[in-house]
Amino acid sequence: MPYAYDDQNIFAKILRGEIPCGKVMETEHTLAFHDISEQAPHHVLVIPKGPYVCFDHFATEASDAEIIDYTRTIGAVCKQLGIEPGEGGDGYRLIANAGRDAVQEVPHLHVHILGGRPLGRMLQ
Ligand code: 5GP
Repeated sequence: MPYAYDDQNIFAKILRGEIPCGKVMETEHTLAFHDISEQAPHHVLVIPKGPYVCFDHFATEASDAEIIDYTRTIGAVCKQLGIEPGEGGDGYRLIANAGRDAVQEVPHLHVHILGGRPLGRMLQ
């Protein structure tokens, strides 16, 4: 089934500049900004600029340039936040919810970067 992208989702509006965001980093293909409801001292969302609903959509249809840019930007944000393990930081967690079972709220791919406090075990 083809992926149906809703261009009225809140992150599409942020990308078009229709609503503001607390920008952390921007590259040719990627935007990173603070989550409006932070769950940790560092809680940043990283989104591709292209119209991708979720990770498998992105991995299937995005160009190599978009995928490389997105991946490198996630890493660069972690470094900028100073949370990379082994380099002075204490680590972080990446989460990408997709679809109903994961309770994805916004249907535009986003990776959550969480850090700045002990996050506990996620899988028990
Ligand atoms: P999801 O549950 O889809 O993985 O996460 C969506 C995230 O988007 C939530 O953590 C929520 O706080 C965040 N969010 C929702 N609306 C906005 C908004 O208008 N601006 C920002 N910066 N974050 C938002």
